[in-house]
Amino acid sequence: MAFCESCGKPVYPLDTVCSNCGTPVKHPVQPVSRPDPVYDSVRSGDIEPPQTSPYAVLGSWSFVGSILLMGLPIAGFIIAIVWASGTTYNLNRRNLARAYLLIIGIFVALYLFIVIIAIALGGSALLLNDIIQ
Ligand SMILES: [Zn+2]
Repeated sequence: MAFCESCGKPVYPLDTVCSNCGTPVKHPVQPVSRPDPVYDSVRSGDIEPPQTSPYAVLGSWSFVGSILLMGLPIAGFIIAIVWASGTTYNLNRRNLARAYLLIIGIFVALYLFIVIIAIALGGSALLLNDIIQ
């Protein structure tokens, strides 16, 4: 919100003169967002971002390590949730954790769907075993 230089009343973005005193309004120039040199250079493919950047490219072995960590029983699931929530600084790892949780979610949903269909079709655990095997 801009204010009249003469009387101090607020002026609206499309006003050319102050509605209170008639003084011509100077609207402040919108600040241009400063470019992020790391982000820009990464997008243009000029350089690889430094390892300290959230856009740092994870190496293959970092992916292997991350996947193995998330594959740990129970603890890995907690690690994946922590990473997916954005606690990890690196965006590659955050998205990897989110993808991992999505895959788990898809398989759980598929499993539940099959169980529900099996129950609807006849409702016995024996039938469910027939479907799975
Ligand atoms: Zn005014």
